[in-house]
Amino acid sequence: MESEGEMLFCNQATFTLFESSASEFKHIDSLCVHWHFFDAEDRALGASVSPLHQVMMQQEPIRGHFFKIVSDQKSKWIKMSVIPLHGATGSIELLVSSCEDVTIHKTDELRYQAMVNYDPLTKLPNRVLLSDRLSLAIAHARRKTTAVAVCMIDLDGFKEVNDTLGHEAGDEVLIEAAKRMRKVVRGDDTVARLGGDEFVIILVNLFKSEECAVTLYRLLNTLSQPYSVQGGQWARITASIGVSLYPDDRVEPEILLRHADVAMYKSKNSGKNKFSFFDVGSDQKVKANYKALSKIKQALQSGDFCLYYQPKLNVASNSVVELEALARWNHPLLGLISPGEFLPLIESDEELSAEFDYWVIREALAQLHIWRALGIPLKVCVNISPRQFKESHFMARVQELDALSECPGALLRHLELEIVETAAVENLGRSNSVIVECKRLGITFALDDFGTGYSSLMHLRELAIDTIKIDRLFVSGMLENSENMAIVQAMIALASAFDIAVTAEGAEHIEEVLSLMELGCDAIQGFAIARPMPAKEVAGFIATFTPDPRWKIASMSLPSKTDFELLLAATNHKYWMELVLSELERFPLEEAVLQGYTRECRFGFWLQRGRDAAYRKSSAFHHLVTLHRNLHEHVDHLAQRLTVEKRSILAQERLMLQSLSTELIEWLERMRKTVGIHRKEAYENERSKSIKEK
Ligand code: C2E
Ligand code: MG
Ligand code: MG
Repeated sequence: MESEGEMLFCNQATFTLFESSASEFKHIDSLCVHWHFFDAEDRALGASVSPLHQVMMQQEPIRGHFFKIVSDQKSKWIKMSVIPLHGATGSIELLVSSCEDVTIHKTDELRYQAMVNYDPLTKLPNRVLLSDRLSLAIAHARRKTTAVAVCMIDLDGFKEVNDTLGHEAGDEVLIEAAKRMRKVVRGDDTVARLGGDEFVIILVNLFKSEECAVTLYRLLNTLSQPYSVQGGQWARITASIGVSLYPDDRVEPEILLRHADVAMYKSKNSGKNKFSFFDVGSDQKVKANYKALSKIKQALQSGDFCLYYQPKLNVASNSVVELEALARWNHPLLGLISPGEFLPLIESDEELSAEFDYWVIREALAQLHIWRALGIPLKVCVNISPRQFKESHFMARVQELDALSECPGALLRHLELEIVETAAVENLGRSNSVIVECKRLGITFALDDFGTGYSSLMHLRELAIDTIKIDRLFVSGMLENSENMAIVQAMIALASAFDIAVTAEGAEHIEEVLSLMELGCDAIQGFAIARPMPAKEVAGFIATFTPDPRWKIASMSLPSKTDFELLLAATNHKYWMELVLSELERFPLEEAVLQGYTRECRFGFWLQRGRDAAYRKSSAFHHLVTLHRNLHEHVDHLAQRLTVEKRSILAQERLMLQSLSTELIEWLERMRKTVGIHRKEAYENERSKSIKEK
């Protein structure tokens, strides 16, 4: 062909290929009348543009390129080379071209590619092609500084369509959904099917990440319209979409897909038919936590954790007999790290949390053994995480640790476990059985941070705990804040009513210690007594511990708590008496009912277990014991008679019982006064002694 497009020579095979003849095929333009040219990517080359035109314009040869030629009726694939021959002036004088009909090979190849790259049902790109397209989209976005949105789409309610209308209807829905998605997106975007009812859309050329929101709303809308299936039936589905955005989330293509999947589950779990974006910030936090967790694990292995011990002042004896074990991370670079910084992380990991808690118990038992061997009779209180406390094998593990300790069976009696109130009340029944089981082994229990959770009277009554620890929140500042003071007072009264000891935490000032003593706390813990210290400093601390003289005086002053105890004991007794007398009114008497009252009463409990030694020593106390026994015997005897005899005997007996009860109350009051007077005297003596010393 010469440069003006005039055909000089054409062999028969070429005529056959283009279905033309020498008379028709005189000029290159006549070729383009019958055939339209498309490139290998199926893009139209435009009217009157053939590869021959291209070479003439660009003056560059083409060798072995594939083109599709399309006429009204058919299409063919040709493989074509066009070489320009230049004249002496350098301009193109001739074009030499060869063509080959490769339709058969190309169709096979395309069919194969479709199988490999496309989903046969919806004809959408499949996972393989999606992966290519995503890599290309990201490379393109990087060059053009644009954004890419990867949208993971999962159809909601598709399974129901399959189950109720059948698989064919399901297929129809998938095909239709695919069509609707393609309609919503632009030509450069990709809609792919991963399989089942999972699709991915890649939105490209975004300038702002928010741009894709409009498309996402359209997608949700179009996908939620009813689907006509199986001739006249209607199927309804919606979509849950998760989106990850490049370059906000600057990760590899595969990870972008995974992040979109995570976001999709967020949509699924928060009501469906919506889209959610992947939260890059929270993902970074998760990664940072993961790193921190592995460092903690390493530190635990290499012995960088240790226990500090904080003494508790026992008010009655004015001495330190108990310590709370508090974990510390002795970081090689950062120094001593407090539990507030590492515990939340530890507790987020099931395995590590268990490892850590059992390490603390093991360590505390080992330390207890060392102190006991040195003749220092201390008790150690260990904090247990709520997670471990709730574990079904918790008790078995504790016993195992005891068995492995230096002194199996002997140390648990000196161990107290502290659990936070919230953990204990979550399942009262189970908590109580763990507590009771522990007690069988000699372990005592404390409710930690009392007052910050659900603190209710019910819990104290139902849990067999020994101690409550009033949280620092109420103790610090209690002197300036009358509300806090009232709360502390109420807690002490409450605990006392249930015969539970009280420890106050966080007393930072001597005045707080004094007030807590006066209010009747059994033990006090706080910086005013001592800060947490390494185990090796404890023996020295105990040996040199001299209580502040003011504490001694305060602990001797009339403690309102024991006054309260007496008041409560008297009230309990009066209440019991009322119940008994009202039962006696009934006739015939049900023996079992009255016996329930005669066997036990709260006053009797107090007599047996009252913790104030001063009362026990007074003669009035012994008199009270006798009076109480008489009264019960009397009621017992009466109960037996009343089941057979008449009611007429009652009036006399009532009077008798009432006088015994009055006598008991009188003796109680007498005891309160005498003990009070002794206390006051001792208190005055101590005060004057201290004034003289000053
Ligand atoms: P907690 O059991 O209530 O321990 C008392 C916390 O109050 C300790 O903080 C202690 O140092 C602090 N404290 C004591 N007296 C004062 C005071 O007068 N003023 C002030 N400002 N603070 C005082 P720490 O050691 O940071 O422990 C915090 C919490 O971490 C503990 O609260 C406990 O719940 C938990 N914890 C500590 N060690 C362990 C452990 O080995 N295992 C578990 N599971 N938890 C632990
Ligand atoms: Mg504690
Ligand atoms: Mg606490």
